[in-house]
Amino acid sequence: MRDIHHFVNGKSLIGTSGRFGDVFNPSTGEIQARVQFATDAEMDLAVRAAAKAQIGWASTNPQRRARIMFDFKRLLEDHMTELAELLSSEHGKVIADSKGDIQRGLEVIEFACGIPHLLKGEYTEGAGPGIDVYSMRQPLGVVAGITPFNFPAMIPMWMFGIAVATGNSFILKPSERDPSVPVRLAQLFMEAGAPAGVLNVVHGDKGAVDAILHHPLIKAVSFVGSSDIAQYVYSTGTANGKRVQAMGGAKNHGIILPDADLDQVVKDLSGAAFGSAGERCMALPVVVPVGKKTADELRERMVSEIQSLQVGVSNDPAAHYGPVVSSAHRDKIASYIQMGVDEGAELVVDGRGFSLQGFEKGFFIGPSLFDQVKPTMQSYREEIFGPVLQILRAETFEEALTYPSDHQYGNGVAIFTRNGRAAREFAARVDVGMVGINVPIPVPVAYHTFGGWKRSAFGDTNQHGIEGVKFYTKIKTITARWPEGAVEDSAFVIPTMK
Ligand code: NAD
Repeated sequence: MRDIHHFVNGKSLIGTSGRFGDVFNPSTGEIQARVQFATDAEMDLAVRAAAKAQIGWASTNPQRRARIMFDFKRLLEDHMTELAELLSSEHGKVIADSKGDIQRGLEVIEFACGIPHLLKGEYTEGAGPGIDVYSMRQPLGVVAGITPFNFPAMIPMWMFGIAVATGNSFILKPSERDPSVPVRLAQLFMEAGAPAGVLNVVHGDKGAVDAILHHPLIKAVSFVGSSDIAQYVYSTGTANGKRVQAMGGAKNHGIILPDADLDQVVKDLSGAAFGSAGERCMALPVVVPVGKKTADELRERMVSEIQSLQVGVSNDPAAHYGPVVSSAHRDKIASYIQMGVDEGAELVVDGRGFSLQGFEKGFFIGPSLFDQVKPTMQSYREEIFGPVLQILRAETFEEALTYPSDHQYGNGVAIFTRNGRAAREFAARVDVGMVGINVPIPVPVAYHTFGGWKRSAFGDTNQHGIEGVKFYTKIKTITARWPEGAVEDSAFVIPTMK
């Protein structure tokens, strides 16, 4: 059995805990490797190596750090196919989608290549007599990232891409379900010229997360995963004096106004609801058609669209989506489908019981469609994270607006319409963090910023963009006086500028 080791201080670290997690190939259902779970002592070793490396790294001029980011970006491009195949083999998403996962992370690295410009401070000459004021952004020290299984390339790069470029060193605790790509990213970063210890990967489960949350040398923690754990990470990390941003779950809605281009909507919904087997925090699992005519027409077209979908192994180029990540997750999705039926929603297409010939042990589930979903249903209020689309009918624009706004999650939302004024009003009023207008998956580009509202995010800074630079740096403001001539009198009152 292949073991996946930690990557600490520039080399493999063989763990000693005797605790492991199984890493499956979701297409075959077989265990292909096991990943080591760190002890507290191993986490401490990694943090101390990172703290040592950070001193020299922070004093490396930003342009030299940026050149390493440029070389890392080139290496990612050179290794795209290898990384995508590795990612698909552990996650289950199809290879084209894995390339998208890597590409979206790579775009954050491109943004980080501009770090010399992004770190420039402010300067005021002559704020008083002989007085100048200036500010600088300094790294925090050792920072950590804890990531989910569903984007094992993009989300680590959201975090460490900005953290290391700004002069921090980084401990990455990736998902134990698909840990190989994060290790390869750290190896490639070193190959690009990063000093040992700047980017470390330490594997584990709750134990490793707790070791991060309680380690006194870790100054900030970025987390992405499910909401209850995000809340736990946020409250524990901040209680221990750390800066924390913790992104949680989602239940994104797509609002369809009667004037929308339904041909395009059906194509967009199909990719956004079923792509990556619905295992995206920016998937669109709820559609809200406005008016009976829109709803009936949409439902009919969605049924025939779903019939054209192909579910296949992750390296089948014809497959629209692959297996889900584990058999437990497949069973959880199936139990939500049953819950919907029991709650009285109409199951129009049932994806349960799907089996792929020759891969009967793979973690596959077919696409499902519900109609007549009501806002009180538990299967609507909770995140399913699978290939299940729920139709929640609305009579009016106002009613449609309330559903995403009143939902416990507020990650993303999309509106489909030809009416610019309605779209503008919707974007302004909806209580959700990221809005798409005729864009089904509105994941912002790397130089903007990613983050939801309500139970989709705890903490107040987003991922990447300028928000990321702010999260991983602290600002220092210097007031300098160079008096000339006679000694000035003592000042016993707070100094003010006259
Ligand atoms: P998860 O919450 O199970 O795991 C996330 C991380 O937390 C992993 O590294 C895991 O090892 C760790 N962890 C697991 N159990 C823990 C515990 N009890 N205590 C402390 N740490 C623990 O999430 P997942 O299943 O890997 O990912 C799917 C979830 O992530 C979905 O809810 C999805 O919506 C969410 N997600 C959110 C965003 C976003 O930006 N808002 C992006 C991607 C995924």
